[in-house]
Formats: sequence, structure tokens, C-alpha cells
Amino acid sequence: MSTITNHLPTDELQALDAAHHMHPFTHGAELAGKGARVITRARGVTLTDSEGNDILDAMAGLWCVNVGYGRDELADAAARQMRELPYYNTFFQTTHVPAIALASKLAELAPGDLNHVFFAGSGSEANDTNIRLVRTYWAQKGRPDKKVIISRKNAYHGSSVGSASLGGMGGMHAQGGLPIPGIHHIDQPNWWAEGGDMTPEEFGLERARQLEQAIAELGEDRVAAFIAEPVQGAGGVIVPPDSYWPEIRRICDKHDILLIADEVICGFGRTGNWFGSQTVGWRPDIMTIAKGLSSGYQPIGGSIISDEIAEVIGDTEFNHGYTYSGHPVACAVALENLRILEEEGIVDRVRDRTGPYLKEKWEELTDHPLVGEAKIVGLMGSIALTPDKAARAPFAAGPGAAGLICREACFANNLVMRHVGDRMIISPPLVIEPAEIDTLIHRARAALDQTHARLRDEGLMKAAS
Ligand SMILES: *Cc1c(COP(=O)(O)O)cnc(C)c1O
Repeated sequence: MSTITNHLPTDELQALDAAHHMHPFTHGAELAGKGARVITRARGVTLTDSEGNDILDAMAGLWCVNVGYGRDELADAAARQMRELPYYNTFFQTTHVPAIALASKLAELAPGDLNHVFFAGSGSEANDTNIRLVRTYWAQKGRPDKKVIISRKNAYHGSSVGSASLGGMGGMHAQGGLPIPGIHHIDQPNWWAEGGDMTPEEFGLERARQLEQAIAELGEDRVAAFIAEPVQGAGGVIVPPDSYWPEIRRICDKHDILLIADEVICGFGRTGNWFGSQTVGWRPDIMTIAKGLSSGYQPIGGSIISDEIAEVIGDTEFNHGYTYSGHPVACAVALENLRILEEEGIVDRVRDRTGPYLKEKWEELTDHPLVGEAKIVGLMGSIALTPDKAARAPFAAGPGAAGLICREACFANNLVMRHVGDRMIISPPLVIEPAEIDTLIHRARAALDQTHARLRDEGLMKAAS
């Protein structure tokens, strides 16, 4: 068999990719027709592709490369751990130092009484764990009927059967018979798209009160938990109106249900605090973590659990676990990643310096003719593209057509910005420097200008009626 290296011509790599590699969330035949981009290297906030282009990665991979690319400390931590103990499990009454050290460090970083960690290999796995955890918790407390988990439409909680059911993505539920029973979805707090004539504050309250209505309809004695991302990420970086979270918190305090904060994106500095629930003023009972936990250098996720839940679960054998729960190499890398975040003061920098700097420039984009609202928390932001700002109108061409054109224009300008429908989103590495933020904004503006010109040329600047 011949060796596959970076040095094959791009078209050969693309042909092999198309022949043998199935991509996540991708229309296979369409991609095969044009060929995937081949990324070969990365440093800091910059990717290099097989054609030698340097591309500013304003998505930090998939929202995960918080400390940036090319950190030798993380490579060294992995190599050291592989030589010392490449693998051992934590089943059957055994443990190892990396799992102990990482769990202890997470207990120290997590707020309040969140002191116990169940490790998984990803955010999806961790949310599957959470479904079983909260149901087992209530069953142990003699309330086996408390099973239903309330979530939100357009939430993203992962791609396994359980976690995709928790999520509220219509396109995912349409394939493979989801959601599983016992998951209930309420509407999302997306004022721009769904707020109608209400003020943002009225709308925030209305959407939060759907939680209370759902609890009333389902019956408090049947509801186990509410799960939410502090800021919806994959749904389009939806930042709720200010009235939303305090009302959600009031409702959760009043009714006897557990609160799961899905911190897979918001955790580890993304919103300017260690956890997004701190930014939005929540006290969760369980937090889902992954992505920024290892800055994506190793696949690892987990659930951080309160003293009370851990105690109740600890009174039985929890028949659950993954071969790679607490994988030593992943734990060692995550621990080193947390050391870097802490010692380099990266979380504070997002809150005090780069976050405010990006916010100012990002919000200025609303002066562009295509841009309706601009939203940003810490270093995660979105802009809504629209043919008619005053009416907050969607495009007549249907959702996603303009967004896709804009994403392609970004790439042509050496910028990775993702589109969710017609929202453009960013989530750059947390180490991004102010000068790199200037570059990001400069390229985003160029891409918006080109998108605008193309939409006009093709007669697509029409609002849906
Ligand atoms: C990415 C993501 C997940 C799923 O994590 P994976 O590691 O891809 O399984 C879960 N929740 C949120 C909020 C995410 O963004």
C-alpha cells in the first residue's frame, strides 16, 4: 500500500477522500463533486491548506481550540503520558493519576458544590450519560416517574441517539427515528427570527415561561431535568434577551427539577468566565463539558455533578461507562490545557481585553447593508444577514442560501466563518490578539461586500413575504 502524505497533490488527496471518507453533516455526493479542502498544518489562530493558503480560523476548529494551534506543551504532555501509561481503564475499582488529577482540578474550577466528574470521550457521550444520570437519580430517590427532560428547539447537545434527541435540530430528528421518548422541547429565545412584534424583553419572558407551562402540562412529578446551553452555539450563537435567564432561574428554583448546563462550547473561557453558567447567572446541578476542556487536542468530555447527585448515585451501582472514560492521555492533555488557560490568564483576557475589543468591532458590522443584528458574548458572536433590517425579514430564496454564499466568500478571503441558515458565526481561539481581531473584521467586511454584490447581481436581495 502506498503511503498517504501531505505531499500528494491536492486533487489526489481529494479523490481518495471522496472515494473512502464519509464526512459528518455533509452531502456526500455534492462534496465529492467539488473536493474537500485539505488542511495540513496550523499555528496560533492560522490554518494552512494543501495549496499553501493561510486561513484565519475564526471558529477555533469546531469551537474547541481555545489555547490555539501548535502548543508544544500539549504535544509533550501526550507523549510523556503515552510512554508512562498509554491506557488503563477506570472500571473494576481501579484508577490512575491523570484521571484523579483532572477530576480534582475540575472540581476546583467548577462553581459551588459541583465536585464530581464522570468522564466520557465527547460531549455527545457526556449528554447520554446525563440522561441516564438524572433518571437514575430520581429513581434512587423513589420517584421513577420523574423521567422527562425538557430541552429547547434548535439546541445542540450532540449527535448520538440520546444526545441528538436532547437537541432540538429538526434536520437531525428527521433521520433515524429521533427523538427517543421522554424528551420535550420548548421554543428557543431567538428574538431576531421569532420575536414578531414583541420587544426583546417581553419575548424573553414569554419564551422562559414556556418552561413553566411545560412543567405544568407534563406534571412536576414527571419532569427530571431541564437542559440548555448558556448560549446556543450550533443553533447560530443565539443570545437571549436579558429578561430570559433570570426567569428561567426563578422557574427552576421553584419546581423540583434538575438543571443541566451544557457547557461544551461555553466552558473554559469562551464567554469570559470559566463557565457560561457563571456568565448567565445560573447554578447548575450538572455541567456537560468537552471541546475546550482539551482545546480539541484530545477527544474528551464529561459531566461535572453536584455533591447531592453524586451521593445519591453513589448508593447504587451505576451501570454505565465508556472504554475511554478518563483516558489517561486525554486527561493528561486536558490538565495541561487547563494549566495553560490558568497560568496565561486567558479567561481574564477574554473578559477584560479581547472580548470587549471584539465586541466593539463586531457590533460595528451592523452598519453594513446586509447585517441586521450583531450578538456577542465573550468570544462567541453572530450576525444575522437580511434583505430588510427594519422588518427583520428573511430572504425570499429560503434559509441558508445567502449564508452559504457568505461562507464561501469568507473562505475566498482566507477566513473561516461558519453559517447557520443566514446567521454568520464566529468562535475564534481564545488566544487571538487584537491585531488578529482587526484582520478577522477586515476579511469579514470584504466577504460581506462580495456577498452583498453577488446577492444583488443574482436578484436575491428580496425579502420573503
Ligand atoms: C459540540 C457540542 C456537543 C457534542 O459534543 P461532541 O464532542 O461533538 O460529541 C454537545 N453540546 C454542545 C453545546 C456542543 O456544542
